[in-house]
Amino acid sequence: MGKNTEAYRQISEVLAHSQGDADVFVDILRKEKIQHLSFSQITTVEFCEYRYHLQYIEMRELEPTPTYFAKGKAMHELIADTYRGMQNGNGNEAFSPNERISDKMDAEGERHLMNAYRVHREHMWMGYEIEAVEHPFVMEIEAGLLPMVGVIDLVLRQNGDFTLVDHKTGRDFYPYDVLQVAIYAKHIEGAHAGKSCRLFYDHYRWVNNLERIRKPAFQRTEVNAELSDWGEYLERIREGAVKIERLREGGTPTQNGKCFMCPYRGMCWG
Ligand code: SF4
Repeated sequence: MGKNTEAYRQISEVLAHSQGDADVFVDILRKEKIQHLSFSQITTVEFCEYRYHLQYIEMRELEPTPTYFAKGKAMHELIADTYRGMQNGNGNEAFSPNERISDKMDAEGERHLMNAYRVHREHMWMGYEIEAVEHPFVMEIEAGLLPMVGVIDLVLRQNGDFTLVDHKTGRDFYPYDVLQVAIYAKHIEGAHAGKSCRLFYDHYRWVNNLERIRKPAFQRTEVNAELSDWGEYLERIREGAVKIERLREGGTPTQNGKCFMCPYRGMCWG
């Protein structure tokens, strides 16, 4: 059995064992060091090889945890709480954001989280079946590549067809990367042939005061990733995978990123 086929078999077993729990799934892959590819890995190695080395080979954590990271994680958990409640038949019960506030957030961070949660409650997806919340998956891409792993924030169904939603948070609305949704669409195509699939980004902007904003605090964007263009996405994945393989085999990483926008700059240049 080839290395990539064996990795797919192992990851499929972990997926079955984790019973749809994305945190358990990701945790086991990390602890057991089971090799795979992901959208984040590809974009990280594209951004800077040295960042890839720190993040995925040395597995260095950012210390202290950046506020934006803690806020983004808490917001994702709150949104997941909402949709899991709906999935379990509890209606669209509201949760208290206070329970998700951590000591890694300052007062401004708490305000941002409270406001983003309020905005979320005004823009929930209603009238859909909740197929999955934080849905982990693995897919084989081609014989020469490690399997691709991902976690889709929200999978909705209506009349048998799928709507996928990815939640983003940030100070502003940043441009999205179509590769991410192309990977998701490819996974859905493989797992549910013949079903249509639409993909959306729900983007929450951190704001201090919802009553005094000049531009919206929320943006919902439909992204069309044409699978007829899959060849181009595949080429990008292959190029990233070649760099990743070289680094995993001990190759020297180049420091080629835009350091001013990198959270690891303290480790590199501090
Ligand atoms: S600070 Fe610069 S060199 Fe260091 S990981 Fe980030 S982008 Fe790469």
